[in-house]
Amino acid sequence: MSAMDAADLRIRTLGECRISSPLRGLVTRHGTTEHYVDETDRVLFDDTVAMLAGRNGGDLPSFEPGGPRRHIYFDPSKIRVGIVTCGGLCPGLNDVIRGLVLELTSHYGVSRIVGFRNGYRGLVARHGHDVEELTPARVQHINEHGGTVLGTSRGNQDPAEIVDCLDQLGINILFVIGGDGSMRGAQRIAREIADRDRRIAVVGVPKTIDNDIPWIGHSFGFQTAFGKATESIRAAHTEATAQPGGVGLVQLMGRHSGFIACYAALATNDADYVLIPEVPVDVDAFLPHLRRRVRERGHALVVVAEGAGQNYLPAEGTDASGNRSLGDFGIYLRRRILDDFTAAGTEINLKYIDPSYVIRSVPANPYDSVYCLRLAQAAVHAAMAGRTELVVGTWRNRFVHVPIPLAVATRNQVDPDGDLWMSVREATGQPASFTTPATDRAAA
Ligand code: ATP
Ligand code: MG
Repeated sequence: MSAMDAADLRIRTLGECRISSPLRGLVTRHGTTEHYVDETDRVLFDDTVAMLAGRNGGDLPSFEPGGPRRHIYFDPSKIRVGIVTCGGLCPGLNDVIRGLVLELTSHYGVSRIVGFRNGYRGLVARHGHDVEELTPARVQHINEHGGTVLGTSRGNQDPAEIVDCLDQLGINILFVIGGDGSMRGAQRIAREIADRDRRIAVVGVPKTIDNDIPWIGHSFGFQTAFGKATESIRAAHTEATAQPGGVGLVQLMGRHSGFIACYAALATNDADYVLIPEVPVDVDAFLPHLRRRVRERGHALVVVAEGAGQNYLPAEGTDASGNRSLGDFGIYLRRRILDDFTAAGTEINLKYIDPSYVIRSVPANPYDSVYCLRLAQAAVHAAMAGRTELVVGTWRNRFVHVPIPLAVATRNQVDPDGDLWMSVREATGQPASFTTPATDRAAA
């Protein structure tokens, strides 16, 4: 476990919580305690005996837990709340929007909530403040659809202009639902707010279909995404087994982290090879391996994450947000496989499937809907208690507050020496690295 200081996990607050929480009707079975989180409660960062030995309890690194506070910072009757969604689509965005609106209105009694349209662009005057009122009626049924009812965008926006907009509209809390870039943006907005000595809370709900944001266990939409991806793997497997020399090649999302490829492959347990960005692949050694597999077993199924094998592809520039655009490894590999089998005189029937936009745009499954709602509840509790510059995460099966600088400092990736990757290798039978078999070397 990485070294972590108590200070790294500290959450900024806007001030003392003096207002009694209006949450009611949440008394436990014993009729005594509400489910308020005690302000002194903490979630240990590391619970290993090795860590506990030799440290005195006071400075143990620990997260602030999520959940409702007995006393809150904002007066619900006086505040105005903004919600924005940024970055790429991900199943569950509408569930989070709806969860925020319903928690704010039903439980806290906040009645003034606005949605900014098309990402951070909706908060910039030059683009015309694109704002819509969000009411319980407006968000009814939105969770039944994929995408985001608020729209989204990429492209840099000036934090100063964004805070001008928050000032003009009298926004007290801004919820940002977005990926790593959006959270970096949220951090700059929170800093600009602090520089101007304003009391506006900025709280993030981290969105990443690739599951590459740390401190959140599995990100919302991830289970839906890999579940949908299994349909493509099944289709490719059916195709591959139906014809001589059948090869199914499925490219799944995963720019820097191959979690979707790993989980979808494990869920079907049909893949013969899984190629992910975290584990370098030697295509020249992989191809003879694949040919031998097809010769011996009649077919093969290959699952690749889009970010794998980037060393084989030319650099492609950047997108509007400055993210490096990736080359299309699946298409590259398809050509290499076809060329290799043809050169070797081996029959091949290759079917290539890339379901990426189908996977991103579906509604959340019931598990993710539950998760989105609970993340939204935790985000509202944090903001109402005056916490700022944080994202809601999960740690040790509890909702926690994660400082944004920590959330964007690292990326969650498949550990090539970890048990997930070992499970994938057990399921596929693929080697740790590919080497050219003696027979192929002799033939070459
Ligand atoms: P995903 O990668 O999952 O699609 P994302 O949130 O990372 O989501 P981006 O397009 O990178 O998507 O960023 C979303 C918004 O955040 C954009 O408007 C972008 O300009 C802004 N943003 C990204 N990085 C920064 C940064 N370092 N500082 C300020 N704003 C940023
Ligand atoms: Mg990103």
